[in-house]
Amino acid sequence: AAPADPLLRVDAALMQFGGLKALAGVDLAVRPGTIHGLIGPNGSGKSTMMNVLTGIYVPTGGAVTLAGSTGPRRLDGLTPSRIAKAGVARTFQNVQLFREMTALENVLVGLHHTFAGNLADTIFGTPRRRREERAARRRAAAILDFVGLGAVAQVEARNLPYGRQRLLEIGRALALDPVLLLLDEPAAGLTSPDIADLSAIIRKIRDAGITVILIEHHMDVVMGLCDRVSVLDFGHKIAEGPAREVQRDPKVVEAYLGS
Ligand code: ADP
Ligand code: MG
Repeated sequence: AAPADPLLRVDAALMQFGGLKALAGVDLAVRPGTIHGLIGPNGSGKSTMMNVLTGIYVPTGGAVTLAGSTGPRRLDGLTPSRIAKAGVARTFQNVQLFREMTALENVLVGLHHTFAGNLADTIFGTPRRRREERAARRRAAAILDFVGLGAVAQVEARNLPYGRQRLLEIGRALALDPVLLLLDEPAAGLTSPDIADLSAIIRKIRDAGITVILIEHHMDVVMGLCDRVSVLDFGHKIAEGPAREVQRDPKVVEAYLGS
């Protein structure tokens, strides 16, 4: 693919729930190496888009295409686990961690797909499996360091402050070694110091070469982080462009005032 080609393309995505078009034919092009904002009033279709991109919902119409070294690949119609294997990871609008597991164990769960051994290796704890597990623990520790949680690796998820839980979710998603990371309102409910930490980590993720789609309603976070922004309203894309321009777009101002 040429450098200007999008990493992810959505063509005329349609997601119908009965009579409601949560997505009414949305196009999206996400450039590689960018943080792409997806904003819009409540109920405009942002989470639905995430669910379509990750295979939770099979779109009623349209296409989702991910660029790759072996050429473009259609994602719509694939299962969530196949889409994750294709390199698309996500966090959810509500925290979804294994609460009784430590931070390290939560990331290790995300790494299990990297184990090559067969069932016998697992059952009998063969040297190969022990080697793999040691490597996985080292990698999990490195991921926790990356998201700033190295010091709390052995703390159970439920005992971490909320802001740290959100970072841990991002760490677990990074364990999938994604090319594209989708974050659904990661700053919701966070204090401003936590938002600053989160923003720095999202930037670090982008700088590490992982493309990010960010759903966020904190406008200052969107403006500070996003290279480009797409705006949804009632399932339609009403504006798109550099963050500063989109913020001044009269259609966008009106959509937010009307909500
Ligand atoms: P946002 O994330 O932008 O707040 P959503 O994507 O969650 O909005 O919702 C968009 C619209 O689709 C809303 O009207 C919502 O009620 C509806 N919707 C979302 N998921 C479903 C579903 N599984 N079944 C029926 N309606 C849904
Ligand atoms: Mg939502």
